[in-house]
Amino acid sequence: MNSNNNYNNDSSSEDDLQVYETLTKIAPANELLPRKLTIDIDVKSLYPLKPLPQFCKTYTTFFEESSQRECLIPDIQVSDENRTLLDYYEENKQNLVYKRFDQLDLGKRTSNDRTYFASLLANFKRTQPRVFFRGEALFDQKLTPCSSEQIQFDSNFESGNLFCAFKKAENIYDLVIQNDINTRGNTQWFFFSVTGAQAGQTIQFNILNHLKTGSLFNEGLQPAVYSVKENQLVGTEWCRDGFNISYFKSIFMKEYPLSLKKKYYQLRFHYTFKHEGDKVYFAHSYPYTYTNLLEFLNTQLEDQERNQYLSRKVLCTTLGGNTCEVLTITSNSLQKRAFRKGVVFLARQHPGEPQGSYVMQGIIEFLTSNNPQAEYLRQNCIFKIFPMMNSDGVVNGNYRCGLEGSDLNRRWKKPNKYLHPSVYYAKKYVKGFSKERQILLVVDLHGHSRKQSSFVYGCAYSSQVKTIERVFALLMSKVNPFMDYSSCTFRVESAKDKTARIQLWRELKINWVYTYECSFYGQQKKHYQIKDYLNCGVSICNALSQIVKDTTKEFTNQANQPDIQQQMLEELGKMPQTDDQDIGSDSSQSEAELSDDELVQLFQPKTYSIKQKNLSKQQETNNKKKIQQPNGNQKSTIASQKASILQESPTKNQEQRPPMSSQKPKNPLYRIQAPQRNRQLDQVKQVEPPLMVDKSVQTDDWIYRQWLIQMGKLKKQQEFQSITPTRNIYKSSSQSVTRFIVKNSTLKNDRGRVDSISLMASGLQNKLISSSQQRQMMRYSGSNFMS
Ligand SMILES: [Zn+2]
Repeated sequence: MNSNNNYNNDSSSEDDLQVYETLTKIAPANELLPRKLTIDIDVKSLYPLKPLPQFCKTYTTFFEESSQRECLIPDIQVSDENRTLLDYYEENKQNLVYKRFDQLDLGKRTSNDRTYFASLLANFKRTQPRVFFRGEALFDQKLTPCSSEQIQFDSNFESGNLFCAFKKAENIYDLVIQNDINTRGNTQWFFFSVTGAQAGQTIQFNILNHLKTGSLFNEGLQPAVYSVKENQLVGTEWCRDGFNISYFKSIFMKEYPLSLKKKYYQLRFHYTFKHEGDKVYFAHSYPYTYTNLLEFLNTQLEDQERNQYLSRKVLCTTLGGNTCEVLTITSNSLQKRAFRKGVVFLARQHPGEPQGSYVMQGIIEFLTSNNPQAEYLRQNCIFKIFPMMNSDGVVNGNYRCGLEGSDLNRRWKKPNKYLHPSVYYAKKYVKGFSKERQILLVVDLHGHSRKQSSFVYGCAYSSQVKTIERVFALLMSKVNPFMDYSSCTFRVESAKDKTARIQLWRELKINWVYTYECSFYGQQKKHYQIKDYLNCGVSICNALSQIVKDTTKEFTNQANQPDIQQQMLEELGKMPQTDDQDIGSDSSQSEAELSDDELVQLFQPKTYSIKQKNLSKQQETNNKKKIQQPNGNQKSTIASQKASILQESPTKNQEQRPPMSSQKPKNPLYRIQAPQRNRQLDQVKQVEPPLMVDKSVQTDDWIYRQWLIQMGKLKKQQEFQSITPTRNIYKSSSQSVTRFIVKNSTLKNDRGRVDSISLMASGLQNKLISSSQQRQMMRYSGSNFMS
C-alpha cells in the first residue's frame, strides 16, 4: 500500500510538472478589462421598444443649409368654443390610424408598472375613466385598417412619444403627442417615424397639443429629419427639413386647468418624401438617447488611450431601473493631486433637450483626448460628470419630467431620496466633493426652445453691478463662436430657486454656477448642426483652461502674465448697462405637474416603506385607543403617507433608533439598522417588499425577516428584540451564500454571543438551507446559534 501510494504520488508530481511546463509555454491570457470600465447596455422602459437605426455615425456629413424658409402663420380663426382633445377624439374615432400603446398588454404588467401610466392623459380620467387609467384601454374602437401603401406611424422606440394619429384628409394627418408620464402635459418634444409614403408625396403634419405659447418654428426652425433610404444612398444623417412651417394657437383647450380656458399650440409642417418605401424619422431636434450615451461611454472606456483618464461609477438606480452614471476625468499621475480644482458638469435633467448631451459628449471627448490643453486640464482639475440625470425621461420620450412626473431641475432644494434619486445622490456627491477640494465651476447643460444661439444663466445678487460671476461667461463667449454674451442673464430668480444652479450656488458658495442653454434652432437663422453642439462643449473646456492657468500661477512662475479675470472685469465695466431681461424664459414652472396629494396617491403602493407602514399602523391603533375618530384618523394616515413620500428621507425613524453599539466588526459589508422595538412581526408577514426604497438595505432586511419567520421563533424573536435594543447585524456574502451575523453587545450574560444564519443564493429568491446544513455551517463557523 505504502509503496503504491508513493508510486502514485511520484507519478502525480510528474504529471504536475508536465502540466506546469505546458502551461508556461502558453501565452498568458489577455488582461481582463477592469470591471468598472464596462457598461452593459440594458435600457429599461415602461413598454417594449424597437431598436433605432445607428444615427450619427459621423458628425460631418450634413446637408448644406437650405435657403431660408418662409414662415406662414395661417389665418386660422380661433373660435371661442370650448373644445377639448377628448371632443376631437370622439368626433374623429373612425379616422384613428395610430395609437402608441395598441399592442401593449398592460394587464400583464404589475400594478406598480401601471402606476406610471396612470395619468398618461390624467385630465381625461375624470370625464371618461375608461380612456386610460391604470391600464384601462384608451380607445375601444379598432384602428382604421391600413393598406401597405398607406402612411403608417410609429413611436415605440427610445425617446419616441407620438401618442396617436388621425387621418384628417388626403395627405393631412393630425398628431397628438404623449403627455410626460404622470403629468397632465409638458408636451413640446416630439419624435416619431413615418413609413409607406410614395416618392414625391407631400404630407401635412399637424401636431395639436404643444405646451408653449411661442416657438422658434415661427423664426425659421425646421424639424429634424432622418431618412433611412437617403442615409443608405448618400450617407445623409440628421438634417433640418420640411416647409410651410408654422406654430400657432390651437383650437383645443388645455384640459388643465380647464377653468382658465387656455389653449394648446399647434405645429404645422409639410414634408415631401423623396424615396419609395422609405422610413423617415421626425423630431424636435437631433435625438440623443440613453442607448446613445451608453454606447458612447463604452467606446470611450474601451479606448486604451482615453480610459486611463476616465472612470465610471453608478451613482444610483432610477425609478425605472436605469442607471445614473457619474464619471471622473483627471490625470492618473499623483502629482499636484491635492491642488487640483473641482469641476462639475451635468446634463439631461430635461429629457427633451438632447442638445445638452451633445455638448456633454464634446466635453468628454475633449477631456479624454491627447490635446495638450486637455492634458493641462487633467493635471490641474478633477472633473465630475453626470452625463444623464434623467435617463428614465429620455428613454420614455418625456420632454421635461422624470417618471414620477416632476421637473428634476425644480427638486434641488430638498430632493426626495426615493422619488428623485439622481438629484438626491448627485447633490450629496457634489457637496461631498466640495468638502474634498475647491470647486471652480459647475455647468448644467440644457436646450432652449425659444431663443437662438447659446448663452448662460448665472447667479448674481445684483443685475446692475458687473461682478466676478460674469467673468467666466464672458470668457466662454469669447472663445465660443456659438455663444452670445448679450443673451446671458445673471439673477437669482425666486421662480428658479429650486434649480440645480441656484441651489448649488447657494450651498457651495462659489461664483461660477451656470445653466448653459443651447438653442433648438441655431444662431442668425442658421441651424446648429450636431458638430456645433459638440464644439460648444470643447469651447467650455478652452475657456476653463485659460482660467485655470490664471488661478494656478502661483505654482507655475507665470505671475508676470496678465490676469485674465482682471481683463474680463475691466471689459465688463466698459459694457453698457443692460437690463438683463430674460425674454421668453424656457423654464417656467409647469402647471401640468400633479399636486403633491395626487402624487402620493399614485406612488403610495411603491414608496410606502414598511417602517412607515408600521408607524402609521401604530398611530392608528393609538388613535383607536384614545377616541374613535375615523376622520381624523384617516387624515393623519394620509398626512403621514404624504410626509413619508415627500420628505427628503425618513429621518424620524432614524432619530428614534437606539444608538449602535460602539463595538465595530472587522469587515462589515453592510450594517442593517436595528429594528424598532415596536415592530410587529405578524404584520410584517403580510407586507410585500417595497420596490423603490434603498435596495441593498431593504433586501437584507427582508431576508433577515424571512429568516425569522422561517425559523418559527417569532415569539422568541420579539423577546429577543425587546431585551436587546442594541445589536449589530452584519452581512457577508459570497457567490452562493449570504450569511447574517448577529452580535449581542448589551446583555450581560449574552455578551459576545454570535448568532449567524446562512442563506443560499442571493436576491429575493433566497431559500433557506436545511437545518442540518445550517448546523453544519454553524459548527464550521464555530458560533452559537440562537436557541
Ligand atoms: Zn432645460
